[in-house]
Amino acid sequence: MSETALRYDILIVGGGMVGLTLANLLNDSGLKVGVVEKFEPKTVTDEIDIRVSAINRASVDIFKAIGAWPEMAARACVYHDMHVWDSSGAGMIHFDSAEVGLDALGYIIENTVIQQALQRCAEQAENVDWICPVSIDSIELADECQQLHLDDGRILECHLLVGADGSRSQVRAAANIDFERLSYGQRAIVCSVETEQPHAETAWQCFTPDGPLAFLPLMNGQSSIVWSLEESKVDAMMALDEDAFCRELEQAFEYQLGSVKLVSPRAAFPLGHGHVDQYVQNGLALVGDAAHNIHPLAGQGANLGFLDAACLAAVIMQAHVANRQWYALHTLRKYERARKGENRLMESSMTAFKLLFSNNDPLLSVVRNAGLVMVDQAPIIKNQFLRHAMGN
Ligand SMILES: Cc1cc2nc3c(=O)[nH]c(=O)nc-3n(C[C@H](O)[C@H](O)[C@H](O)COP(=O)(O)OP(=O)(O)OC[C@H]3O[C@@H](n4cnc5c(N)ncnc54)[C@H](O)[C@@H]3O)c2cc1C
Repeated sequence: MSETALRYDILIVGGGMVGLTLANLLNDSGLKVGVVEKFEPKTVTDEIDIRVSAINRASVDIFKAIGAWPEMAARACVYHDMHVWDSSGAGMIHFDSAEVGLDALGYIIENTVIQQALQRCAEQAENVDWICPVSIDSIELADECQQLHLDDGRILECHLLVGADGSRSQVRAAANIDFERLSYGQRAIVCSVETEQPHAETAWQCFTPDGPLAFLPLMNGQSSIVWSLEESKVDAMMALDEDAFCRELEQAFEYQLGSVKLVSPRAAFPLGHGHVDQYVQNGLALVGDAAHNIHPLAGQGANLGFLDAACLAAVIMQAHVANRQWYALHTLRKYERARKGENRLMESSMTAFKLLFSNNDPLLSVVRNAGLVMVDQAPIIKNQFLRHAMGN
């Protein structure tokens, strides 16, 4: 312990969507929480941000519990249907919320909107400090006390250090937890477009030989594009002028919504996957992308992170209320046991999907198209898929 250090019970490194969710869930815990974030978050403007997330039911329930949902809902686009098909055949699946007795399959929301709503809630929590913008010079880990040395000279101390600092986690590196992020050899191009035909509150996903292409409905009638392409094709696609890019997009999407018009800049994000073996140590835990990275094709990465946050908060609070050592390894292992299997299953399923659908072998194409048709006609299997995707 240092005389000059600022003391917290819990320090969360990373004030992204997952770190802020955890901070909010620890509101009313009686524990003093600090969120350490490197960058000032982007503010929400009238223009729709190009980074959006498909948010499932389980995540909506978490946001409702926090009190952040009304602000998010005001800029969310509900989707009732999901169309998934293989461009190399006739296989397709259609999911309809009415078929499973639900009012929605999910919502498309800008990341900045999620972040801002969570931050506003955290600001109202008396036990949560927002420490931003700041860089961490070094991290010292010990059994009872974890220390962060900030670049402005401050020292922060806590019993539990949480790494919510994304795929290049500094906390994970300081804890010597192995993580290998394997590249998919793909980047995802994201942008917003206007389409000739309305998106019909439907999430569309086409598996092309180059990678999956999603058209996600936005609340202003536009669609958000997530187009995963082989690395070798991305630069050329990004270099095309707007018209040529739109023609390529329409063709890859098989003109499902007619012609498209680009209404935002384009950006490309490298895609990879990886998973830590160790989520926790004595006085330390990893959540969200710091623990696992998956392919965005099913829009699950952040949703898994929100469930990590909910699980970790519950484990901490149960132990704290019972007067047990809530930051000890044996307590934190409950969190690891609850989340690791599910996250790993999702990561390997997404990798299998990606491999299965980006293979041009004609035999494999027949098998996967037959599989899509079979699943589409088997309500029990279809519902299982859906429930899993919705975080249930
Ligand atoms: C193209 C694309 C589309 C996607 N679509 C979806 C989707 O539809 N649905 C879905 O659920 N998921 C989706 N994902 C995945 C999702 O974006 C991530 O899983 C999610 O952002 C992870 O959140 P996080 O808070 O764990 O990490 P991050 O979003 O990476 O946030 C980490 C935070 O920590 C901060 N930070 C980093 N290092 C430090 C440090 N040393 N000190 C202090 N702060 C630090 C960063 O500034 C950042 O604010 C998509 C991903 C991609 C690439």
